[in-house]
Amino acid sequence: MSYRELYTSSPAVFGGLQKSFSEASYVVLGVPFDITSTYRTGARFAPLAIREASLNIETYSFRSHIDLEDATLHDIGDLSVTSDTQETLKRLEQVTREILAAKKTPCLIGGEHIITLGAARAVTKDFAILDFDAHLDLRDEYMNLKTSHTTFMRRINEQAKPRRIVEIGTRAVCKQELDYAKKAGISFITTQQIRKEGVDKAIERINRLLRNIKKVYLTVDMDVLDPAFAPAVQNPEPDGLCAHMLFDLLSAVCDKRIVAFDVVEVAPPYDNGVTSIQAAKTIFEIMSAIQKDVKG
Ligand code: MN
Ligand code: MN
Repeated sequence: MSYRELYTSSPAVFGGLQKSFSEASYVVLGVPFDITSTYRTGARFAPLAIREASLNIETYSFRSHIDLEDATLHDIGDLSVTSDTQETLKRLEQVTREILAAKKTPCLIGGEHIITLGAARAVTKDFAILDFDAHLDLRDEYMNLKTSHTTFMRRINEQAKPRRIVEIGTRAVCKQELDYAKKAGISFITTQQIRKEGVDKAIERINRLLRNIKKVYLTVDMDVLDPAFAPAVQNPEPDGLCAHMLFDLLSAVCDKRIVAFDVVEVAPPYDNGVTSIQAAKTIFEIMSAIQKDVKG
C-alpha cells in the first residue's frame, strides 16, 4: 500500500462513485450561481454542500430497487460562472450540449433556478419541461430583471419552445402568472390538489400530460417541499409537499425519457444539514428511477 491509499482520499465527488467520463451514463455538474436571487441568497454554496451530503446517505432505492453503486456516475466539477447572467447561461448551454452529444445524462446541481434556462436551451426541439416547484416562475420581469429565477420559465417558453410545460406543487403565484399560464397552455397541479386527491391520482395526471412526449427535461426546485422538510431554500413557502410525497412522485414519473435534470435553490447558509440531504436523496431517487427504466 502506498500513501495514496492510506492517507489521502479524492475530493468530494457526488455519491463518491466516480467513474471515468467515457464510462459514465450520468454526468454531474455543479452550477454555483445565485446572482439574480430575490430573497435569501446562497445557492452558490449548494453544489459542494449537496455533494458532501450525498456521501453520507445510502445509495439503495426501495422504490426502484436500484443501487446507484451499480450506475455509472462521473462528477466533472463546477461550471466556471461569471457575474454576467447571460454569459453564465451561454457557458452552461454549451457544456450541457457537449454532455448530451456524448450520449450522457447531465445532472445539474444548482445554483438558483435560472440555470434551467441555460440547460434547457441545449435540449433541441420536441421536449417537455417537468418542474417541481412552489412557484410558477412565469413573471415577465421582477425587480427590473427580465432574466431572473422568477421569470425564467417564461423565457424558456419563449426561447427553448418546449412542446409542453408541466409544473407540480404550485402554491405561490401572482395573477399575472396565472393569466400567462392559461394563455400559453402551461399546466400546473397545486399542492392542495395533490394532498386532496392523493399522490397516485397526481401521478396519473402527470403521465397523461406527458403522453406522446419523447424527451423530458426535469427540474426540481427544492422549495416544492414544505419548509419543515427543506428549511434552507432561497424562497421558502409554507404549505408544501412532504418529502415522501415528492420521492413517490419522482420515482413514479421518471423514466428514460428524461434527457437531463437539475436540482436547484438550496441555500446552505440557512441549513441545519437537512435540506442538502433531501436534495442529495432527490438526485438519488431520480437517477434510480431512470436507471430502473434503462435496465428494463
Ligand atoms: Mn423556482
Ligand atoms: Mn420556487
